[in-house]
Amino acid sequence: MAGPRRRKYDVVIVGSGPSGISTATSLVRLEPSIRERILILEKATHPRKKPCGGAISSYAQQWLERLGIEISVNSNEPSRVRYVIEQSEYMEYDVVLGAGFRMALREEFDDALAKQAQNRGVLLAQGEPARSFSYKQEGIAVKTPRREIFTRILVGADGSKSTVRSFLYRKGRIKGPQNICSTLSSMCSLHGGHSAGYEKNEAIIDFSSTLQRGIGGYLWASPIVVNTQCFLNTGIVCFQSAGPSTPSLMDVLSEFLQKNGFPLHQKEFISHPIRWFHPSCEFSGERIILVGDAAGVDPFWGEGISFSLGYGDVAAGAILHALDSGDFSFKDYKSRLLAHEIGQVMMERLRQADDIYRSKKNLDFKSALRSLLLRGSESLAGEVRGHGRG
Ligand SMILES: Cc1cc2nc3c(=O)[nH]c(=O)nc-3n(C[C@H](O)[C@H](O)[C@H](O)COP(=O)(O)OP(=O)(O)OC[C@H]3O[C@@H](n4cnc5c(N)ncnc54)[C@H](O)[C@@H]3O)c2cc1C
Repeated sequence: MAGPRRRKYDVVIVGSGPSGISTATSLVRLEPSIRERILILEKATHPRKKPCGGAISSYAQQWLERLGIEISVNSNEPSRVRYVIEQSEYMEYDVVLGAGFRMALREEFDDALAKQAQNRGVLLAQGEPARSFSYKQEGIAVKTPRREIFTRILVGADGSKSTVRSFLYRKGRIKGPQNICSTLSSMCSLHGGHSAGYEKNEAIIDFSSTLQRGIGGYLWASPIVVNTQCFLNTGIVCFQSAGPSTPSLMDVLSEFLQKNGFPLHQKEFISHPIRWFHPSCEFSGERIILVGDAAGVDPFWGEGISFSLGYGDVAAGAILHALDSGDFSFKDYKSRLLAHEIGQVMMERLRQADDIYRSKKNLDFKSALRSLLLRGSESLAGEVRGHGRG
């Protein structure tokens, strides 16, 4: 990108995933003249790979509408979602998915999102990672391999392994909670192969193979259809592990795939963390705020696209307040987040995760899960209809 070696911006956003793009577009929506004073730094170049289940929930769709963003990408809606709660009794639940729920390729979705920000006049520097940060008088200097940039406000939208978060925690000498969960996932072409899920366009979410073996999390397998090509997206997510005797995620996942007729080779799996929301975390510091995975997303499903889109709304309000008032402490950012709709939904999901993944009371997780799924919510679960089959 051309320009003077040390440009000054009001806001530098590190990362152009859903949280970075929603922060930029929310800012421009609320204050159109700010667009020339925002820069997004992105280390990759869109369309870039991102390990993801590809589920765009109806809640994510609602956030896109609120942001005034229309995304047109290849996508399909599974005809059925089968929740497996109890293996031996074959307890299954059919789900009616909420309006707008779809499965998409993440690289296409994020590429389309990034173009929306660019169409609104926001500068996006791709292939330019933020390498280091240092406080200066009245701002922060951000070093990239090409230049040093000066900003009044820095937004960490750089995912679960956020460098902005590390800088914030180092500076504040804060010790954070262990709110990182592990995942193993794979996206592969089915080459027209035959398997039950593929033929029925059915997504499977299995809690029984995980919870019964001390893994607080679930397994998933879902078809994603792009033009005429069918991909299988599958994986396992673990928010809590019972300890060293717990089987490896790879073993549990292999067994699940075999059982469902999806033979996959181990080398196709990618491991990537998700940071989940916990109110004891720090989300801001002097001139810095965190959004999306850098701050923490849904602690129950690991659903992050919707919440990352919602983070932009909270962040934009806090940033404009700082620029208007000259108070860059962001001391009220956590309370803004907790009072906001996304904070409240994440707190509700945290309670569900505590009940089902981390219960100390030897709670019957099957009945807790059953009532959670039957209650339905604005979640990946959509709306659950009918009763389990015994
Ligand atoms: C296996 C898996 C499955 C998932 N499935 C789903 C799902 O089906 N549905 C759902 O809603 N959520 C899902 N999630 C969660 C979801 O992917 C994340 O919550 C979401 O991507 C968070 O968005 P974000 O913008 O905060 O971060 P990201 O999407 O991770 O974007 C961060 C961006 O920052 C860039 N970046 C990183 N470091 C730097 C740097 N130093 N300088 C410049 N740029 C940088 C990265 O290249 C990236 O583009 C899944 C997550 C995983 C791991």
